[in-house]
Amino acid sequence: MLSDVLDFVFPAQCAVCGEAPSPICHRCVPSAGIYRSSFQGLPVWYCLEYQADIAAILKAYKDQARLSLLPCLGGLWSPALTAAVSTLSPDLITAPARNRQNYIRRGFDPVGRLFSATKMPGAKKDLRLIRFERKIKDQRKLSASERQKNVAGSMHSKPGSGSVLLIDDVMTTGATVAESIRALQSAGYEVIGICVLAKRIL
Ligand SMILES: [Zn+2]
Repeated sequence: MLSDVLDFVFPAQCAVCGEAPSPICHRCVPSAGIYRSSFQGLPVWYCLEYQADIAAILKAYKDQARLSLLPCLGGLWSPALTAAVSTLSPDLITAPARNRQNYIRRGFDPVGRLFSATKMPGAKKDLRLIRFERKIKDQRKLSASERQKNVAGSMHSKPGSGSVLLIDDVMTTGATVAESIRALQSAGYEVIGICVLAKRIL
């Protein structure tokens, strides 16, 4: 895709401060870690706390197709993913259903591309296991309770079995993750953990 190539050849300004000509300048590279939390009794791994600078980076990546950010973001996420996979040894890695309209508008799948940019040898994945069964509104404009109502019962997973690690780029209220877990469980899978790039600390 042309914007992909152009962003590499003529990198736009830093996605956070807008100054140095680099996908993220050295001053703005977020410091990542391997953090643990829990959701519905399941272990959650993440590497960044979701705050304004992370939101700016992800907006540049997802909505402005700044694909030159991928090596940096993939590198930040890899240690947390490696920790989750080596702790849980899941049979499969999957992700929540993605909105088809967003895919058409963006021309790429942000979570799929991000996961491909991480170093995850040996982990089996099927990121297209879960699909939307009906249309939902853009979650970003909704409150926590509205998000939960909006997404509840909206997803369907291909049937199967085995243990699953659920991955996503961002976890805020957990509504999308909760609905993904429900869809996976009703399809026969056992969800054993979650790993996201950035998590909002509530
Ligand atoms: Zn910067």
